[in-house]
Amino acid sequence: MHALWTSVLDFFFPRFCLHCHQRIQLTQEGFICDLCAKEFVLSDGACCQRCGRPMLPEAEHNLVCADCLETNPSFQFGITLFPYKGIGREFIQLLKYKNGQFLKSNLQALFKKFILKLSAFQGSTFVPVPLHYFRRWQRGFNQSEWIANLLSRHCQGKVKNALIRQRYTQSQTHLTREERKVNVSNVFSLKKRDVCNPHVHYVLVDDVFTTGATLNACASTLRKGGAQRISIFALAHG
Ligand SMILES: [Zn+2]
Ligand SMILES: [Zn+2]
Repeated sequence: MHALWTSVLDFFFPRFCLHCHQRIQLTQEGFICDLCAKEFVLSDGACCQRCGRPMLPEAEHNLVCADCLETNPSFQFGITLFPYKGIGREFIQLLKYKNGQFLKSNLQALFKKFILKLSAFQGSTFVPVPLHYFRRWQRGFNQSEWIANLLSRHCQGKVKNALIRQRYTQSQTHLTREERKVNVSNVFSLKKRDVCNPHVHYVLVDDVFTTGATLNACASTLRKGGAQRISIFALAHG
């Protein structure tokens, strides 16, 4: 019955690969064809332990990248899954700007590939990077919250919308590292006072890690609220 229903759905709602736009076979799940799935570059080599970005081969013997050594962020550990380019970029853009919750099974498959790495987040409390209410209304959903929900199920944790974005900030896309830092300073605050438990492992969740300014601003806010164990997670690194 299930197989019949799936083929009926497939007949009326055929799926096309987000990358090559070919029709996806019934036997395949999600919205990336098997061929393009092979193009999905995964960050499963040596990564910076602090921010999760892959290390350049010549720096692989270091545990922490040069950026983290310089900025000394308010989070201690981080994981990212793929670079923000090619199919990875298309994935994020669809998710963010085309209401891409249909990518759920693809994301779950990615989480399964990273099962070992993600075990570091087992039982954690996932805190999505908040959108300003106006942007959330425009977009219809907060992609970071959506990612946090899926990730928390994968890691048997829970989601806590502990932060609010107080100001409407301009898009960070064309800003330099320094401008990004200024752009997000004093933007986030805790929803309630004393919301952070020093014994809880908080994992901040965002879609893309670029300079880390946003995630770091969020981490500082949690830290000021009493959190001691803070990690970050982003699908892509830019
Ligand atoms: Zn394809
Ligand atoms: Zn780093």
